[in-house]
Amino acid sequence: MTPRPRILIIYTGGTIGMIENAVTHALQPFDFTHLIDNVPKVRKLDYDIDNIQFEPPIDSSNMSPKHWSDIARAIEDNYDRFDGFVVLHGTDTMAFTASALSFMLENLHKPVIITGSQLPIGEVRTDGEENLITALQVAAALDKDGEPMVQEVAILFENYLWRGNRSTKMSADNFNAFRSNNYPALADIGLGITFHREVLFRTTVRRPLKVRYRMDPEVMFVELYPGMTEGTLRHLLSTPDIKGIVLKTFGAGNSPSAPWFTAAIAQAVEAGVVIVNVTQCVNGGVHSTLYETGNTLTAAGVISGHDITSEAALTKLMYLFGLGLNAQQVKTYMGYSLCGEVTI
Ligand code: ASP
Repeated sequence: MTPRPRILIIYTGGTIGMIENAVTHALQPFDFTHLIDNVPKVRKLDYDIDNIQFEPPIDSSNMSPKHWSDIARAIEDNYDRFDGFVVLHGTDTMAFTASALSFMLENLHKPVIITGSQLPIGEVRTDGEENLITALQVAAALDKDGEPMVQEVAILFENYLWRGNRSTKMSADNFNAFRSNNYPALADIGLGITFHREVLFRTTVRRPLKVRYRMDPEVMFVELYPGMTEGTLRHLLSTPDIKGIVLKTFGAGNSPSAPWFTAAIAQAVEAGVVIVNVTQCVNGGVHSTLYETGNTLTAAGVISGHDITSEAALTKLMYLFGLGLNAQQVKTYMGYSLCGEVTI
């Protein structure tokens, strides 16, 4: 007989646990007891469930690397006692947290399933109840060898399980709020949970969990748009202390070919800033040799982010600089897939 699955729920906040403020009518985070009391069906699962809650729970717009560390610490401290982890989180920055945790939790072998909801758990039409229950089931699922089915950080939302560092929030209104545009779903959620084993992350060697707590925040996005002036670009590129920039470019990784543009970028690269080319498109990636406008960025020393999401690119830079690596080393590792975040 297989023992009851032991799952730890880490409640950070987000709409799933929110209630309406009686005065302002705005939604605000509320405590875990309220949340779990609204999902009596959880008791029907024959699981040992424990929980840890952020004090106070937060709207995920307030998430920061410090909070990612708190989640990672909760997982590390309880890693041996539980079979899987469910993180309840606001949807707004869920893709950033999922990406960050995928890098921070090195050698992860157990499921870390992040979920939340578009409607609070107390609402009649809430999506939170189903998301929570399915997340628990996914966290408890085993493969045919009795090993965890999911051995990575994933986002469970409505009809799909996505790789965390491949996911993006794509809708502020739809129950299917997330998507991974460049990687298939890890599982389809319908009448049953259908895992797609061939796309689940697996390592060949099993090492003990190693948590990297230091995320270097000296990174930023620079998003191109037609009409950007030289002054604006140079101002952004000379942001004090900045070490890494995710440059959100057009189409297949293209940018203006004006000499001032290329010169400004090349100077920043020469000054030691790591600049990663990531497309603004929701689907597809950077093919910098396709057009001359892409070639100029490569010539200026910008590295390709291939098909990585901007959330994963930014948090990967934070992680690599957090390890204390120099610019050249960071560039090298940006060219590798560390935990399935990019197709090289
Ligand atoms: N503002 C909320 C949050 O991200 C939205 C949500 O949870 O859906 O915390």
